[in-house]
Amino acid sequence: MTRSDLAGISAKSLAGRHALVTGASRGIGAEIARTLAASGARVTLVARDRHRLAPLAAELDAQAIACDVTDAIALGQAFATAAGAQHVDILVNNAGGAETAPIARTEPELWARMLGLNLTAAYTASRLAIPAMVADGWGRVVNIASTAGLKGYAYASAYVAAKHGLVGLTRSLGLELAKTGVTVNAVCPGYTDTPMLQDAAQGVATKTRTTPDRVIETFAAANPMGRLVRPAEVAAMVAYLCSDAAAGITGAALPIAGGEV
Ligand code: NDP
Repeated sequence: MTRSDLAGISAKSLAGRHALVTGASRGIGAEIARTLAASGARVTLVARDRHRLAPLAAELDAQAIACDVTDAIALGQAFATAAGAQHVDILVNNAGGAETAPIARTEPELWARMLGLNLTAAYTASRLAIPAMVADGWGRVVNIASTAGLKGYAYASAYVAAKHGLVGLTRSLGLELAKTGVTVNAVCPGYTDTPMLQDAAQGVATKTRTTPDRVIETFAAANPMGRLVRPAEVAAMVAYLCSDAAAGITGAALPIAGGEV
C-alpha cells in the first residue's frame, strides 16, 4: 500500500465496489449513499417507500429497491435482486428508528419493533451479505448504531437495548471474520440533524408542552460541542471505514458525538 493510499480516500477509491445501503431515502442513509457514490461505488438504495427513493436513485444513477428490512423474506429477495449483476461488497445497515416510552408503557410490541428494526434486520442482512464477501476475500459491513449503543438514555430502553445489541453483533463479527478480509464496524452518532430527529423533537414538544426548537436545543446541549452532528460527518466515517486505508479496523464502535461518550 502506498502513502497516498494510506492518506485516505481518493476520489474514486471505491470504484468497482457495490454498496447496499438500507434506510437510504433520507437522513443519514441518503448522505451515506451520496458519499459512497462520490467515492466511485455502485450503490443500491433500500427503504420501504419507493417514491421517496426515486429522486435519489435518479441523482446517483443507482438501483432502488423498496423493501421492509424487518421482513426477512423480502430482504432476501432484495439481496437477490441487488446481487444480480454483482455481489454486495459493502453493506451499510443504516435503517433504524427510535420509539421512546417509559418502561411501564414499553409494551412487548414496541420492544419487538425496536429489536426487529435496529438489531435483527442487521443480523439478517449480514447473513445474506457476508458469505460472498468471505469468498471474495474483501468486504465491509458498517452498522449505524448510536451513542445509544454505548450509554443509556432514559425512556428509550428498547432502542438503547437494540443499539447495544448491534454493537455486540459488530464486535463479535469483527473477531469472527478478522482473518477473511471482511471488516465489520459500527458508527455511533450522537443527536444528528435528520428528519428522524425533527420527528422526535416534535413528539417530545407535544408531550412536554414546549416547542420543537427548544427540544432541539436540549439535544444539541447533550453534545459537548453544543451542536447536532451533521449527516455528512457520519457519511465521511462510513466512507473511510469502507476504504482500503481502514483495512486494519474491525470490531470497532466509533462515536461521532463531540465528546458525549
Ligand atoms: P430517518 O428516520 O431520517 O431515516 C430513516 C430511513 O430508514 C428512511 O430512509 C426510512 O425510509 C428507512 N426505514 C425506516 N424503517 C425501515 C424499514 N423497516 N425498512 C427499510 N427502511 C426503513 O433516520 P436517521 O437518518 O436519523 O437515522 C438513520 C440511522 O441512524 C438509524 O439507524 C438511527 O437509529 C441512527 N441514528 C440516528 C441519530 C439521529 O439523531 N438522527 C443518532 C444516532 C443514530 P422509509 O420510511 O421509506 O422506509
